This record gives sequence, C-alpha cells and structure tokens, in this order.
Amino acid sequence: MAKSSVDILVRGIVQGVGFRPFVFRLAKELNLNGYVTNSGEGVEIHLEGEESSINEFILRLKRDKPSIARIDEIVEKDSTPMNLSSFQVIASKETKVFTIPPPDIAICNDCKNELLNKYNRRYLYPLISCMNCGPRFTIIKSLPYDRSRTTLSKFKLCKDCEAEYFDPINRRFRAEPISCWVCGPKVFFVEDGKIVKSDDPIMIAAELINKGEIVAIKGIGGFHLAADATNDATLKKLRALKNRHFKPFAVMVKNIDFARKVAYLSEEEERILLGQEAPIVLAKKKEDSPISELVSPKINTIGIFLPYTGIHVLLLEKTSSPYLVMTSANPKDEVISYKNSDAMKKLSSFTSHFLIHNRDIYNFADDSVVRVIDGLSILVRRSRGYVPIPIPTPVNVDKVFGIGGDLKNTFAIGKEKEVFISQHIGDLSSYSTQRELKNSIRKFLRLIAQDIKVIALDMHPNYYSRKVAESMKTDMKVEVQHHHAHIAATLASNNLNGDVIGVACDGTGYGADGNIWGFEFLLSNLKSFNRLAHMKYFRLPGGDKAIIEPRRFAFSLLYDILDKESLFKFDLGFSEKEKEFLYAMIKSGTNSPLVSSCGRLFDGISALLGVCLFSTYDGEAAMELESIADENEEGSYSYDISFNGSEIVLDPSNLVVGVINDLKSNAPKSKISARFHNTVVKAISELSIYLADEYKLKRVVLSGGSFLNEILVKGVRKNLMSKGINVILPRGVSVNDSCLSLGQVVVASSEVD
Ligand code: ZN
Ligand code: ZN
Ligand code: FE
Repeated sequence: MAKSSVDILVRGIVQGVGFRPFVFRLAKELNLNGYVTNSGEGVEIHLEGEESSINEFILRLKRDKPSIARIDEIVEKDSTPMNLSSFQVIASKETKVFTIPPPDIAICNDCKNELLNKYNRRYLYPLISCMNCGPRFTIIKSLPYDRSRTTLSKFKLCKDCEAEYFDPINRRFRAEPISCWVCGPKVFFVEDGKIVKSDDPIMIAAELINKGEIVAIKGIGGFHLAADATNDATLKKLRALKNRHFKPFAVMVKNIDFARKVAYLSEEEERILLGQEAPIVLAKKKEDSPISELVSPKINTIGIFLPYTGIHVLLLEKTSSPYLVMTSANPKDEVISYKNSDAMKKLSSFTSHFLIHNRDIYNFADDSVVRVIDGLSILVRRSRGYVPIPIPTPVNVDKVFGIGGDLKNTFAIGKEKEVFISQHIGDLSSYSTQRELKNSIRKFLRLIAQDIKVIALDMHPNYYSRKVAESMKTDMKVEVQHHHAHIAATLASNNLNGDVIGVACDGTGYGADGNIWGFEFLLSNLKSFNRLAHMKYFRLPGGDKAIIEPRRFAFSLLYDILDKESLFKFDLGFSEKEKEFLYAMIKSGTNSPLVSSCGRLFDGISALLGVCLFSTYDGEAAMELESIADENEEGSYSYDISFNGSEIVLDPSNLVVGVINDLKSNAPKSKISARFHNTVVKAISELSIYLADEYKLKRVVLSGGSFLNEILVKGVRKNLMSKGINVILPRGVSVNDSCLSLGQVVVASSEVD
C-alpha cells in the first residue's frame, strides 16, 4: 500500500462546533497520523498514512461532519511526510484570526439525557452545555472565540470540567461555555428583588405558573414572560399588562408529541421544530386544542417552539401544563430585556417573580420565527440560532454596511463575499430600541472584526436609522430604494446575480418619486432597478394613523368608486364628522400621502369586510383576512391593467366594486376573502408573466411582507411555474423589512470600485 502525506485546509463554520474532536476521532479510526489545529483561515489538518485511508478521510470529512459545522471549501496540498507516530490536536495558531462566531444552539440530546440522569454529575444542572449545544453568539464579546472572551470568563473551570475541556475525544473538548454544579453559573429564584433560598428554584417558578401566575424567565438571549397557555384568566391578565390586544403569543411545548396535539405539522415543520436553531414555527392550529383562544385570537395559526435550554426542559418537566406561553419580556416597543438588574426594573409592572441565572447575556437575541409556505421555509424573524452565520453573496461586499429600515430593523456588514446580518433589533420607534441599535452596531462590528468604508441607507427622509447612518463616519453613503433592497436581498440570499423581474409587495417603502410604494414590479439586478409597473396610487388619509386604522384606507378605496352619498352610507364605524373630515382630507390631499401598497390594499378589504377595522399589531388585518379565506372557493373579481406612458398601472377599483356587490348580496365573508386573494394572485401572475415575456427573463423574485401570506405565495408560484418561470423566494433571510440591510449592502457594493 502506498504511503502518502497531505495538508488540508477546511474553510467555513468549522471553529467552536466540535470540528477538531471529530477530525481527531476520524484520524484515529483510519489509523492516520498527523495533527489538526485552528488557524485564522479555518481548520488545518496534516495527515500521514495510507493513501486509501486519506481518501476515505476526506470523503467522510464532508459526509460525517458535526451537524452545526458548515464546510465552504476544502483545499488539499501534497506535503512532505514528517514520519509522525500519532495524531494530535495542537493549540491554535494565533495568526490573523478571522473565523465566524457560531450561533446559539438548542440543547442537544446527549445533554438532555445527562440532565435527567440521576447518576450524571450534571443531573438537573439547568445551564448544561457541550460542544454541540448551548449559548454562543449571545455570550461572545470578541474573536477569536475563546472562553476568556465570553461572559463565562469569570467562572474558572473545576478539575472535572477542565479534564473534559482538554480531552480531545470528549464531547466537551474545547467547548467554551461548559460549566457544572461545582464551577459554573447558577439559577436563582428572585421574589420582589430578593433571592429566595431554595435547592430547586425552577420548582418555585413551576408552582407559581401552575397557580396561574406570570413568571419572568431568563433564557439564552433574553427574558421571557411565562404563563400557562391553557389558562384563560392568566392570559387575559397578561394581555392587559402588556397592553397587547390580539398579537399572538408564542407557546413553548414540552415535546413534539404535545406539539402534534395543538397544530397540524408537516414533516418539514417538525424537522424545523426539532432543529438545532429551535425557532418558533407558525403552524396551522388544531380546532380541538387545549390551548386558550387568547393565545392567537382571530387567526388560524399558532406559533410553537420546543424547550431549547436546560432551564426550559426542567421547567416543563415540572409544570402541570405541557404548554407555556413564552413571550419576549419587554415593555411595548422596547427590545427584549436581557440583563438581570434591568429586567427586574423594567418588568416589575408585569410580575414580581423572576427565574434568573448569573451567566450574563452580552448580545441579546429574540427567538427566531419560521413559517413553512408551500413547502418552503420562510423566515419571519431571523435571530437566535441563525445570527451571526453569514449569507454568502455573488459579489464582493467588503466593508459595506447597511443600516436597514425602521421597522423590524436589522443591520448588516459585508466581509469579502459574505454578509453578516445582526440579530432582530425591532421597530426603531422607542428610545430603548434606538439606543440598543447603536450599542448593537458597536458590539457587532467588534465581534465580526470589520470596519466600514461605505454606508447604505433607505431613502426615507424621516427614518431614525437614517440619522444613525448619517452620524457614522465613512467615506461614502449610498441611498438604496426600499423595494430594490428587498429584491436584491432575495437574489443575493440565493447567491444569484443578473436581471430579474422583482415583485415587491409590502406595507410601506419610500419610493424614488417621493410617494409610498408597496405593490411594485421592478426590472432589477443587484446594481440598479427600473420601475415597470405598480398598483394605482390611492390617498392614505392621516398617513401613519391610517396604518393602525385600516378602515381609513377602506374609506379611501371607496372614495374612488362611490359618490359622496353612497360613500357616507357605507358603515365603517365613523361618525358623520369623521366622514366629512376624511373626505376633505382625501379631496385636498392634506396629510394624505399617495400610496401604492399591497399591505394597505389588504387592510382596506379587511376593514370593508368588518374583519379588522383597527390594527393592534403589524400585519393583523391581512392575517385575519387570510385566516377566514375559504380554500375551496375559486372565484375572483376583475381588475384593470393600463399603460401610463412607460409605466403599467394595476387598478383594483373593480375588485373593490366586486367586494361591495358581494357584501350587498350577503355572500359569506370566507368566500369574499378567498375571491379577493384569488384576484391578487391573478393580477400578480398576469403582470409577472407579461413582464417576464416582454424582457425575455425566466426569473421572478418575490419579496415583501405580503409574501408571508400562504395563499399568495402558493397561487403565484403555481401560475408562474406552469409558464416555465423560476420563482425565487429568499433563502435564510426574511421577506419582510428585516432583509433590507442585506439588500442595501449588496446594492451599495456596486458603487464601490
Ligand atoms: Zn449538548
Ligand atoms: Zn465544573
Ligand atoms: Fe418593505
């Protein structure tokens, strides 16, 4: 047998994910000598031995890698044998270190088994973790990823933990966040600001929840407010305290069997629930579910997730209900609370019961949210479990920073051909989120170890994010149109480039003409765009006020098709005075911007049907309208497409007439809603197919919050695919405004040479 020797460089997410112990075990098994080490470029392996074994090694390196690892590239080079007699893991070469900080990972099965095993030394230790699970992003301050640069640095490993940490074949080998009862951080129960002495603080929390109390619980990326999801009275109280009327709560479910009792779960949805990211999955509610109607009122989905830390596992072992509401603990419009002292101050109006621990959270991270639509997993919120894994892009984006938008804000920084997107920051409407945006930018740039040459920002003149961007020192600032950013983000997330027809349907985006856009057909690539078609402009009486009052846009839709008398007869709950006021506003255009927005169209129809006259959370009117749609209804309304100079305009007036006629003849709302959805599907499909043909393109990109609507996505995909058009949806990022930062980075990078 031929003996040989090879040097291998593995690039990707290969540090802090158990890669070296895996390499060590594989080399031992195949009788290969050499060494493995972390370097600034990734993992370096030197192998000596039989050629066939080396070949098998490389094959299995790819095939059997740890599940959290991601291999981007393997570079092989022949080398001179050093006649080594063993295989070793050697200390990191501290060269120009740049690797990717890993994301937080849900508790693994091995740790779960240890946690519940009486004979294990970590029995019932709630902060258990290993190489394959536990906190990462939320505890790391800077790179290289090493315990001394995490919030665990103050906990010195005990003898037993240290032995595991230095044993190359142990699954806690070089696992930075490990700890145990002897040496690690602990969980405490705090009542009215004082620690309650107890051997079992989690039991105290469980008993309070059983009694219908609300308990604040610190997890991986922040605090949750926990309550029994089957207890109406408690949830009523929680809603009142949070001033949250209808916005759905997420429910943590004890295990997958209980999850199946409350939601219809596809294979894909189960896979995501059980995955290492452990996000909230929005699934279809079961009718006979034991979960209170107050969890997700007026909609047909429920957000569920599984316990993802030892604390959660133990808590749900002890509560009598296998279903707990676990909602981000924050006063309205603020970021999730993540520091002990801060949380106890800010959450005191919600509860006096706190289950905390002293493993500090450095970077907060909300739970991520996924919806599976037409078999595709679409991220609704990309945060814990996903951040900071970078998105590979087809263009060089080095040192380009995107500040994102003001709603569902994230920001992003490019490094060579990858974009690192921040955790979900939220809506920048409060001082708290504004401050955390600035803090998070500082922390994130340090963590990714990248400086900024170019800043990309939205065109909206009043965005707070714009102010922040303008205050940052850089050579260059680039404005990127909102919907262009949507389409570019979607393309880039698929690692695609080139011309496409981009369909952007959302609520609000500042247009290049100064009007509000949101139902757009763009000829677009990663550099530039051309607006080919859009929905007709309507007045939005009162501007932002009309966004929380969908009935105002309903009034505006009617204004266009009815005479004053008939308009005033239509009951949307307005007083005569309010009607006169709105009428005058629309007529004169005072405080009534022109909008061409899909989100507003959904609002208007939802209000016309009396489904949602006032919106208490973003997307409420559309979600409730989707929830009542009769899936067997195939009818639709008519609409007009007209050519206005170089632009094509979609006019939904006849659709509104159709809805009103159906309302007059008392057609069921479930049918009207379905017909409305079918009409929007038809209009989007017709225009997309026409434009794709006109510009000889075979690719249509969909982005914008409206494409979280299952009926729209399913219908449009079906129609376009039947014409041989490739429909592109985002991969690994959202369709909503949280993708703007990525799009901005990609578009602005084309301005740099
Ligand atoms: Zn583990
Ligand atoms: Zn220990
Ligand atoms: Fe948008």
